[in-house]
Amino acid sequence: MIDPFGRRVTYLRVSVTDRCDLRCVYCMGEDMHFLPREDVLSLEELERLCGAFIRLGVRKIRLTGGEPLVRRNVMSLITNLGRRMADGALDELTLTTNGTQLAKYAGDLARAGVRRINVSLDSLDPERFRAITRWGKLEQVIEGIMAAKAAGLAVKINTVALKGANEDEFDHLVDWCGGHGFDLTFIETMPVGEVHADRTEQYLPLSLVRQRLERRWTLSDTDFCTGGPSRYVSVAETGRRIGFITPMTHNFCESCNRVRVTCTGTLFMCLGREDAADLRAPLRASESDSLLETAVAEAIARKPKGHDFVIDRDAHPEVTRHMSVTGG
Ligand code: SAM
Ligand code: SF4
Repeated sequence: MIDPFGRRVTYLRVSVTDRCDLRCVYCMGEDMHFLPREDVLSLEELERLCGAFIRLGVRKIRLTGGEPLVRRNVMSLITNLGRRMADGALDELTLTTNGTQLAKYAGDLARAGVRRINVSLDSLDPERFRAITRWGKLEQVIEGIMAAKAAGLAVKINTVALKGANEDEFDHLVDWCGGHGFDLTFIETMPVGEVHADRTEQYLPLSLVRQRLERRWTLSDTDFCTGGPSRYVSVAETGRRIGFITPMTHNFCESCNRVRVTCTGTLFMCLGREDAADLRAPLRASESDSLLETAVAEAIARKPKGHDFVIDRDAHPEVTRHMSVTGG
């Protein structure tokens, strides 16, 4: 799959559910309405969809959500996709999780062939963690992260930089991650989905975060690249990496190698655009995958060059779907 700008699409992010057991303030409103179950692809359909993308050249799959680990029987999908790594069709299977269910699943994930996971954690303070997630329990997530470490999974912590909410904790997070051998990525808030909060009040540019970190840590630029939008620095004092995902201040689209599919089988060629292709109809229309593969090829031919997020006090979100739909 090569798009009109010569970018090879080798990375598929799959949102396996739009549901979540948390309500992070930058991601969801408190009274979210989730999709009716009949609209959501079954785990078997999701596996078929992934299989078609693998045949078309995808080498890496990331499962996300919503919260992927709250989907019932999700381990059956993960185990079956793990077999595709064993047979050489896939290089990597990974997931992004809020960590609440990790204590239960870490061992199974490692056995399925998952080698690394991203865990979202915005604060190490229990009260703040609860405020940001609206009702999460920090100790449950820490327990999950430690279970993942014990199972041999490489853990990367994702922290959304939030003005006034966690900005005084970043040194502590770098220290904590360094102590446990975790990499850490800071993410700028993106204006996607209505969250009933003022985005300009949440937005903290990562250029500022980096400047502040440099007062305490020795950061050096690296050319380490995962093919994603993160720019990485190494931290001399901890020996770990810090990534910065800066969709608002940096244009990372030129190296984009990914597309996203939602749990209803809607394919988004760009996180920052509304254009999408329905894959559920061709998937359900026939037992053979040829209609599906044609629909994917047509969609890749429309992958846009990039996006143009703007955070503006009066503007409605440029993209109205929530991050929990496309999975970040
Ligand atoms: N529930 C899982 C989790 O929290 O890791 C996976 C899905 S979540 C939508 C994926 C990532 O998107 C998380 O790291 C989360 O912090 C991030 N995210 C959600 N809404 C965001 C927003 N408006 N701007 C920036 N990052 C966001
Ligand atoms: Fe749930 Fe992840 Fe969104 Fe938080 S960021 S509400 S954990 S989907």
